[in-house]
Amino acid sequence: MDLEAVNDHDHIKILLKHSTFTSTLINRERAREVTKSAYESLSLIPFIKTILQVVAASRNFRVVFDFNRDSSQLIDPIVDRGNFYLSTTITACVKELLDPYVRHRGLGILAHELCHYAMVLTYDSYARPYYQHSSQVILNFDRILAICKNNSDKEELIKEVFDCVRNFQHAELIARVPQLIVVYNDQPDKLNECRENFKQLFDMFELKTAAEMERSLTMIENYTSKEMMKRNKLIQISTLFGVCAMIGLVVVLYLFKA
Ligand SMILES: [Zn+2]
Repeated sequence: MDLEAVNDHDHIKILLKHSTFTSTLINRERAREVTKSAYESLSLIPFIKTILQVVAASRNFRVVFDFNRDSSQLIDPIVDRGNFYLSTTITACVKELLDPYVRHRGLGILAHELCHYAMVLTYDSYARPYYQHSSQVILNFDRILAICKNNSDKEELIKEVFDCVRNFQHAELIARVPQLIVVYNDQPDKLNECRENFKQLFDMFELKTAAEMERSLTMIENYTSKEMMKRNKLIQISTLFGVCAMIGLVVVLYLFKA
């Protein structure tokens, strides 16, 4: 493939070009250095590089690096607002990138946020790791979710998934895999233990999701921003239509009762 975003280093240049910074702790130049180094570190990790390439291929995005807040103050649109990146802005709270002792956590949260957007681009299914209407895959992922829930005491990052409302759990669960791969990148024993504890989830991400992301790269790079916005607009309109229909139904039921 000779696509720009999947060339070995060009995806980092594209990601940097689309990155902005919020910080009262460091200046712009330092923020840019830290950001570049974060992208370079992530790019060295198998599977994570694919996520970076998918996001870069879209060219229709902005990553906001918030160096004032750490991952515990994460504003994750999937969790907090459920807007599924319709604005194409990815916000990552990455204060931890400034501290070498916890940098791995900052890298993990960055991989997590970029993964959400890569899922939106690959599947167009509200950041979930499958195409809409793939009922067999959805059932299978539901089964994986239940197994992970049973084992969730073994890993805090998996346990947190079940604090989300049910609707967002599929999107949240898949984004935890790249996060865990990054957080435990320097602790291979811990990563292997995690891989064993959540085998079905890791297998799905590494064997299926990552392969489907790679296959979608050409299509994503050929999408124009205009088409992307049009598609996002359609999702917004159908969501609005759904909400209006629900309100209408409640009003009719109320009137009927009265
Ligand atoms: Zn999330």
